[in-house]
Amino acid sequence: MKKGILLVISGPSGSGKGTVIKRLMEKNDSFSYSISATTRQPREGEVHGVNYYFISREEFESRIDAGMMLEHAEYCGNYYGTPKKEVYENLDAGRNVILEIDVQGAMQIKKKCPDAVLLMITPPDFRTLENRLRGRGDNVAEEVILNRLNAARFELEQLSAYDYIVVNGTGEIDAAADEIAGIVAAEQHRVDRAGEFIANFFNA
Ligand code: 5GP
Repeated sequence: MKKGILLVISGPSGSGKGTVIKRLMEKNDSFSYSISATTRQPREGEVHGVNYYFISREEFESRIDAGMMLEHAEYCGNYYGTPKKEVYENLDAGRNVILEIDVQGAMQIKKKCPDAVLLMITPPDFRTLENRLRGRGDNVAEEVILNRLNAARFELEQLSAYDYIVVNGTGEIDAAADEIAGIVAAEQHRVDRAGEFIANFFNA
């Protein structure tokens, strides 16, 4: 069976990447979402085992030591990481796996899994990002907004290390989701992923 594609999706807070990924998965059943582990507190409505595995710092560090994390990073004072086992099980079963992770994690994946596809979702421009962050209305302190804007600037500066950019314009969730599905469809036809096909071609 053909292995699935490991799709890394990054994007600053306010890029709408969570919503785009949700839409992509509603429209296309070949994708599995890798649930990350984190040491941050759950936000309202977030569920353990659905949005994240919420674990303590001690537990997180012992999983790093045991080699159970495919990658991990510290972001705004908390650990985030990708549990290794589930990712490989899904790829081996032919499913495309989405890692919704930050730039530090993406760079680790690029080194460890050179055939991963790295994609960044961005807002149309920085002003729109700032408006989205301020307009969320969740009573976030100015300091947190400035932190997120700084993190966004840092993330966007790493764009050249990625393979693809998808701009998530306001009200264009469907278009962004379709663009990602198109990118993955094209990636499945890359000659450098056809090794097994070529090896078997004349032996049929
Ligand atoms: P949030 O706290 O807003 O859910 O996520 C903060 C940042 O952590 C986002 O940029 C998100 O993509 C990133 N993130 C979530 N899970 C992981 C992970 O498993 N590994 C890494 N490196 N970053 C992650």
